[in-house]
Amino acid sequence: MKTIGIIGFGRFGKLVTKIIMEQLPEFEVIVFSRQQKPPENSGVMFFAQKTDLSKCDVVIPCVSISSFEEVVKQIRNDLKPGCLFMDVCSVKILPIKIMQKNLPKDINIIASHPLFGPDSANNGLKGLSIVLTNIRSDKEVFNKTRTVIKRLGLRTINMSPLEHDKKVAFSQVFIHLVSRIADEMNIKASTVDTMSFKQFLNIKQILTNDSFDLFSDMNNFNPFAKIMRKKFLKSFLKIERELS
Ligand code: NAP
Repeated sequence: MKTIGIIGFGRFGKLVTKIIMEQLPEFEVIVFSRQQKPPENSGVMFFAQKTDLSKCDVVIPCVSISSFEEVVKQIRNDLKPGCLFMDVCSVKILPIKIMQKNLPKDINIIASHPLFGPDSANNGLKGLSIVLTNIRSDKEVFNKTRTVIKRLGLRTINMSPLEHDKKVAFSQVFIHLVSRIADEMNIKASTVDTMSFKQFLNIKQILTNDSFDLFSDMNNFNPFAKIMRKKFLKSFLKIERELS
């Protein structure tokens, strides 16, 4: 039986752990966390020791983007030679550079950005997508990984890290920004809500469930996020001028 190590038991680490435990019984999952013990209903009995990383055939770090480099440097000498290291960061240029620079040459590297989270995956993964790029892994390892991912019902998208970060800044980061602004304005449900407004409130609820750390990292580590925010502000001011 192959062993998958999940590092970080935040919102996404919990989701990946649950998916593997429920849908990929051929794998054993072990979780590494800085927390004292797993929450009672998580299905995880205890957290592994750092030394157990050498048992893992696959390592999926589910840590914040801002801690990614520090974590990679902390664990790079504990990895099993030839294992697969697959990130899940919501930005792609930065973690790929970090993995290429810091991981030993015999480690297989695949970059991924799952385009779903704990809320959108609530009704299963069928029809959802994941950006998946072979950075430095054997063709066989990459193909096997893609097959397992497709078996989960996910659609895989191959894309350069530059194209990814550019596109994501104007889609995911944009909608998170709008949701955070609405939250800041205390926009909430009332008796006169239209269907479209109700749908927006639902989206806002889902997106503000993510940690503020994730929102801030998406903005600070995606080189196109600042450009998107500037355009946002410029467009807002233009519309404001047209209205007055
Ligand atoms: P989160 O809820 O804020 O959790 C991040 C986890 O990272 C923390 O719970 C912690 O795990 C670990 N961590 C933070 N700082 C650390 C440090 N200095 N050293 C070691 N571990 C540290 O964020 P998340 O939503 O789970 O996101 C995690 C990753 O998944 C990010 O890269 C994000 O881009 C990606 N992702 C998230 C989603 C989503 O929907 N949330 C979707 C796709 C991809 P412990 O407390 O267990 O140590």
